[in-house]
Amino acid sequence: MNDSSFEAMAQEIDGLLGIDQAKHADWHADSIVVRGYEGIDARTGSISYPLYQSATFAHPAWGESTGYCYSRCGNPTRLELENTIALLEGGKKCMAFSSGMAAITTLLKLLRSGDRVLVSDDLYGGTYRLFSNIYAQYGLEFGYVDLTDLEAAEAAFTPNTRLVFLETPTNPTMKVADIQALADLAHSRGAVLAVDNTFLTMYFQKPFELGADVVVYSGTKYLCGHNDVLSGFLVLRDDSLLEPLFNATMSEGNQLSPFDSWLMLRSLKTLGVRLRQQEANAKRICKALKANPHVTDVFYVGDPDHPDYALSKRQTAGFGAMISFKTDTHRRAIDALERTRLILFAESLGGTESLITYPLVQTHGAIPAPMLDKLGIDDRLLRLSVGIEDVEDLLADLDQAFA
Ligand SMILES: *Cc1c(COP(=O)(O)O)cnc(C)c1O
Repeated sequence: MNDSSFEAMAQEIDGLLGIDQAKHADWHADSIVVRGYEGIDARTGSISYPLYQSATFAHPAWGESTGYCYSRCGNPTRLELENTIALLEGGKKCMAFSSGMAAITTLLKLLRSGDRVLVSDDLYGGTYRLFSNIYAQYGLEFGYVDLTDLEAAEAAFTPNTRLVFLETPTNPTMKVADIQALADLAHSRGAVLAVDNTFLTMYFQKPFELGADVVVYSGTKYLCGHNDVLSGFLVLRDDSLLEPLFNATMSEGNQLSPFDSWLMLRSLKTLGVRLRQQEANAKRICKALKANPHVTDVFYVGDPDHPDYALSKRQTAGFGAMISFKTDTHRRAIDALERTRLILFAESLGGTESLITYPLVQTHGAIPAPMLDKLGIDDRLLRLSVGIEDVEDLLADLDQAFA
C-alpha cells in the first residue's frame, strides 16, 4: 500500500477514517468509557484492549495487507482510543496526538499563508506562544478578541478569516462564550469554528451539538486525569475537514504512541467518576473561598453568582472543577502557594491531584503585559484545579494556607 494515498487507506482499515456513529447508541457516556469502541479483544477475550507496541506490520503475501502497514499511518491501539473519543464526543473522526500543542499544530494545516484566525483573548499561554511566536512567521494572522462579546467577535471578522479558535470557559478568568452564536457567526462568514474543550470535556460540554466543526483537546488534562500522560486530540464533526487534517498528521508524524494510547484508554474508563467527584469538591471549595475574608474575587462557572451562569446552565451539563481566585494582597497569594501541602504548587490541571498555579508567570507567562492587564491576570490571581481528594482535607489545607 502507498502510505500517502488517502483513498487507499480509506478502504484498508475499517474505522480508520471515521466511526460508525450509531455504534453503542443505547449506551451512555459512563458505559462507553468503560467498554470502548471495539471493546474487548475478539481473539482472546482480553478485557483490557491490547497494546500493539509495533512500529510496522507484516504483509501476509505480495499485494496483501492486514490493513495496517506502519504505526505513523495507523495503529490499532491508537485507533481504539480515537474511535472511543469520537463516539463520546458525537463526532465522526478523532485523531490522537503526542500533546495538545501537537493537535493544535495540525489544526493550523487547514490554513494557508495570508489566512487569518480569530482567537479567544483569554487563552492557554502555550497556544498563544504557538500562534504568535511560531505560526505568525509563516504568514498566518491571529486576531485576539474577547469571543464572549459577540459584537466584538463580529467586528473582528475580515474577508480572510478562515478559522475561529475558541476556549470556553476561558483560561484563567473563566468567562463563558456562546458556542451556538459563534458557530452561526463563523459559518455565515465562511469560517470554521474549533472549540478547545479541555476544561469541561465532552462529559459536560458537547460543542458539536452547538454547531462547532472541530473539538480540540489537551488530553493531558481531564481525559488523562492522572497527571502522567501528555496527549492531544482533534475531533471532527463530519468528514469535510478529514482529508487535509489526516494527511497533515500522517506526514508530520506527531501522533500519540501506542503505549500512551493504551494508558489513555485506561484513564478514560474513570472519566465520569473523576469528574463528578472533582465537580462536587469544586462546588464546596468555591463556597469556602467566597466566604474567606482574604479572597476578593472567585471565578467559577458553577457559582450561581457568576455573570455567565445562565449561559452555562443552557449550554453545558456541568461546570467542571477549575476555579480562579484573587487574594487581597500579592504576599498572600505567594504565601498560599508556599503553604498548601495536600494541594500541590504545579502547572497543569484536570488530574486526581489538586494543583494550584500562578498564571501570571506559569501558564500565561508567554502573554504580553498589556493583554494580561486587560484580562485582569495580575499578581494576586491564583488558579486551582480541584482533584478527587477528600474535600474536608482540601478545605483544611486551604484554611491553614490562609491562616
Ligand atoms: C494544557 C492545555 C493545552 C496544551 O496541551 P498540552 O497537552 O500541554 O500540549 C491547550 N489548551 C488548554 C486549554 C490547555 O489547558
